[in-house]
Amino acid sequence: MLWDMGLGTGDIIELIAFTILSLMTFELPKLPYGFSDLEPHYDSATVEIHYSKHHATYAANLNKAVEAAGWQGKSITEILTSLETAPEQQKAALRNHGGGYHNHCLFWESLCPKSTGINGKLAEAINAKWGSFENFSEAFTAKALGHFGSGWAWLVKNKAGELEIIDTHDQISPISLGFKPITVIDVWEHAYYLKYKNVRADWIKAWWNIVDWKKAEERFIN
Ligand code: MN
Repeated sequence: MLWDMGLGTGDIIELIAFTILSLMTFELPKLPYGFSDLEPHYDSATVEIHYSKHHATYAANLNKAVEAAGWQGKSITEILTSLETAPEQQKAALRNHGGGYHNHCLFWESLCPKSTGINGKLAEAINAKWGSFENFSEAFTAKALGHFGSGWAWLVKNKAGELEIIDTHDQISPISLGFKPITVIDVWEHAYYLKYKNVRADWIKAWWNIVDWKKAEERFIN
């Protein structure tokens, strides 16, 4: 039928390629639990708004930035590791919304209704680096609590394969800095304000009850 319209094979291939690229937009990943499943540590109202408003907006704005940059078809990892080569006018949008989109994907996947204990290779590496899980949790809590303004605290693996605790500002992705994310807490106020108000310490304390250490272990060994 397309041939009947007078289109050549080249035009048709171009049209198909364009259609495929247009369909390859970034979508909200399905949450691995229901909005209320992280209660009482993470309240249903915050999870729903955080996911369906905040995260969804990052996804929508990322798709706009990708289209404006002509970067359709690139994976989120490709985008976040090659920001310096992005068109100047879209660089900030790709950094902010690409990071915002992917950081939240990692964040949701890092949580589970009932935190399992930590064991295996990740537990060994944590003990080797900090001496004990308790020392590690104190150091991680201090980093999350001490972060000034909006951002994230992360357990990451560096290029040498060693664990580190880092924080990133706004929506900077650890991937852009050469780190592999292992687990993460969102310390933007939107992540906790409805339930915990201005008391970030209470949110961090609650977060330890919903960390999916199996997911963290999986990221660490792969
Ligand atoms: Mn957030």
